[in-house]
Amino acid sequence: MTLDATPFDGHAIAASTRAFLPGPHRLLIGGTWVDAQGGQSHVTRDPATGLELARFQIGGATDVDAAVRAAAAAFPLWARLSAAKRSALLFRLARAMEAQAELLTELDVLDNGMPIAIARLTVANCIEMVDYYAGAVLRIEGATMPPPRHLADLGEALTYTLREPVGVAGLIVPWNVPLSTAILKLAPALAAGCTVVVKPSEETPLSILALGQLALETGFPAGVVNIVNGFGADAGAALAEHPLVDKISFTGSTATGRRIVQAALGNLKKVSLELGGKSPVIVMPDADLEQAIPGVAMACFFLQGQNCMAGTRIFAHAAIYEALLEGMAAFARGMTLGHGLSDQTQQGPLISQGQLDKVLGHIEGAKRAGARLVAGGRRVDRPGWFVEPTIFADTHADMAIEREEIFGPVMAVRRFDTDDLDAIAALANDNIYGLSGSVWTRDLSTAHRLAGRIRSGHVSINCHGAVGTNIPFGGYGQSGWGREFGDDGLGAFLETKAITVRL
Ligand code: NAD
Repeated sequence: MTLDATPFDGHAIAASTRAFLPGPHRLLIGGTWVDAQGGQSHVTRDPATGLELARFQIGGATDVDAAVRAAAAAFPLWARLSAAKRSALLFRLARAMEAQAELLTELDVLDNGMPIAIARLTVANCIEMVDYYAGAVLRIEGATMPPPRHLADLGEALTYTLREPVGVAGLIVPWNVPLSTAILKLAPALAAGCTVVVKPSEETPLSILALGQLALETGFPAGVVNIVNGFGADAGAALAEHPLVDKISFTGSTATGRRIVQAALGNLKKVSLELGGKSPVIVMPDADLEQAIPGVAMACFFLQGQNCMAGTRIFAHAAIYEALLEGMAAFARGMTLGHGLSDQTQQGPLISQGQLDKVLGHIEGAKRAGARLVAGGRRVDRPGWFVEPTIFADTHADMAIEREEIFGPVMAVRRFDTDDLDAIAALANDNIYGLSGSVWTRDLSTAHRLAGRIRSGHVSINCHGAVGTNIPFGGYGQSGWGREFGDDGLGAFLETKAITVRL
């Protein structure tokens, strides 16, 4: 770390954030903050300066076991609590989050490095999400259906279904949008009647700890919400394999997703996976370049490219290829990089030295493989883990920057010269992932036909990554199993039980 880093780059933080940072940051188990049994702790850093932000306690298998048992003990009561009461508690949590929005926002900026404008939007979306699932509690409904013939033939009978909570849910989340990836699971899980053990990323524990405190103050019964910080191979693995956990909802890398599936085999727990991506962006010759240049650039550079939906494989028609490249290169060079607390910042730092090394390694690899560097390509000369927004042109399918998820501000742009939509879609689909994607064109027919041909869970037209509280989101291929957001997100924490009665 260079020596001239100053805390928060000299930016002021709110009194609530200043009071929160020193901790102590313990584990939330059974309705109380408790010390980790192994006495271990870990430091989280401000990625824009590299300076220590906070020290937090790290749990291991015994702490996870205690948290799972607390969740299992709380489950019968929580599952049977009236829908109205569950709903009311969730609405209260949303109001508590609103009251502490500044704290939650600043913690994600400091811990993750994201620009404050994005953090504000994220927190607003999280509050909307809690409200949405608070309302959804009252819409968890079964159905009635004709009873089986062998009973109906004997006399009157009735068949109906109930939607019941899966049970104890382990929620394992990444660092790239810490609060949001947690809320996406926590809100529907609690709405469904599950009790939870949250395992935040070891890189970004803070906003989820603040959320845990809000859940306590809101009055959730002891054991309904538990939080165990810890390392993935330790606390994460213990949660994934615990026999009393009925469901794991995981967001993270595809490699870890595979380990989760292996760990879940013991008791065949249900698993939802939101994994990596390498999303295609198709720019047709008739695209509105004024819209497409900033839109495609930000499809990749949003959140420093540390975004599962990032549009990182750009396929541009030969007719607009150079104009698009030139426009995006100017856009990239004009981006304001800096501390996330500054309102001017468009791109913050990467999460860690390790991520910086990985991204710079990909950049060097792309140069060696013969891709044409059009913009960026270097570490920024300042404290923290900043990489310039980087654009490579003339890439092709066997280059690592086209194949692998980099999770940094690095885009690969390739030219195509055909109007055959099947051929264009084949370029986009030539990847193991299938999370997101976008099509840029003024032709409605082309737009819908291409969107239909892209093998991914989410496609945007003339915009990118248009996710919303009520819109299902998830992956095809190796981008995951299942869907989050909306009714699908709630369904992921529900079982369907069919009941038949002879009358
Ligand atoms: P990661 O897989 O390294 O870690 C994610 C979480 O899993 C962390 O909490 C980590 O501690 C835990 N973990 C690690 N090893 C584990 C194990 N063996 N058992 C159980 N838990 C374990 O991912 P990351 O680097 O934190 O996040 C970046 C990745 O997340 C990217 O691949 C990104 O695409 C993906 N992501 C996907 C979505 C989506 O919705 N599809 C959203 C955000 C991020």
